[in-house]
Amino acid sequence: METTQLTPLMGMTLGQLQAVVAEMGMPRFSAGQICRWLYEKRVESIDEMSDLSKPNRARLAAKYCVGRYAPMREAQSIDGTVKYLFAAGDGTKAVESVYIPDDDRATLCISTQCGCKMGCSFCMTGRQGFHGSLTAHEIINQVLSVPHSEKLTNVVMMGMGEPLDNVEAVLQVVEVMTAQWGLAWSPKRITVSTVGLLPGLKRLLDETSVHVAVSVHSPYHEERAGIMPIENAYPLRRVAALLSGYDFRHQRRLSAEYIMWKGINDDDAHAEALARLLKPLGARVNLIRFHAIPGTKFDTADDATMVHFRDLLNSHGIICTIRRSRGEDIAAACGMLAGKVKE
Ligand code: SF4
Repeated sequence: METTQLTPLMGMTLGQLQAVVAEMGMPRFSAGQICRWLYEKRVESIDEMSDLSKPNRARLAAKYCVGRYAPMREAQSIDGTVKYLFAAGDGTKAVESVYIPDDDRATLCISTQCGCKMGCSFCMTGRQGFHGSLTAHEIINQVLSVPHSEKLTNVVMMGMGEPLDNVEAVLQVVEVMTAQWGLAWSPKRITVSTVGLLPGLKRLLDETSVHVAVSVHSPYHEERAGIMPIENAYPLRRVAALLSGYDFRHQRRLSAEYIMWKGINDDDAHAEALARLLKPLGARVNLIRFHAIPGTKFDTADDATMVHFRDLLNSHGIICTIRRSRGEDIAAACGMLAGKVKE
């Protein structure tokens, strides 16, 4: 980071940059020039913004910085997955991002919060409690500052935190990533995952066209509430009612994330109930192998059971895949991200 005293420009929208240049007494079109330097040319300092006059660059640099900062640490898996640790907040906290190369795709799984309030019982992030939401700057920095940034084909907001518990920052990041003045990505390259926070979900559905992934894990109210406390506030049936008002049969994709636990949610009755819930929504299902974390009562479902569960959903016309586990040896797989709170 250039300095913590300065306000980062990276992560700002065109509208916010127009306000910055107005405050600096610079011409309005300078906001578009700054966007190009930030998001197209990806410079690291204001001094490199060579089409701004020298006095304007100096004035801008007295109060602002670009805000690019590299990860503090990385861990490489034998399967090519790389986990990065980024500083967050006042520098005493950190979050993790996971780079997942796969044939012609390169996906980055990013974090939106330091810790999480949702308290899902199977998740390491939930276990560590909540230590603050990331700013749009801290979220987009993960995308722009990982070593393979230029090669990324997809971004999934499935790392630490509940994205829709930080909805303003998440919507701002989606705007920066998809706007022509920003990274100009298709929204189809972005997936936002959620446990189903209804107010944020409605905004995400109305204000963007990114893909949506809902963490389901059980089709039954009582059982889901026992695993995911959010079910008490926003039951799945209300989430499904909201989702049923949107079209997921064409460009936009809705997926249900389903971690499979032995003897808990892996039998035929669960598959049938899941099919009844998801078929009318046009959702597909990702079955996820559970990665045991210390002190949980859960066991990983058998491979044969997962294959049978998938086939049963397929027989109901639901596209269902078993997600390949990646980065397990570096604790980068689903539910394993913990970040670190520095001593
Ligand atoms: S699974 Fe997601 S929402 Fe639940 S505690 Fe973990 S990070 Fe939070």
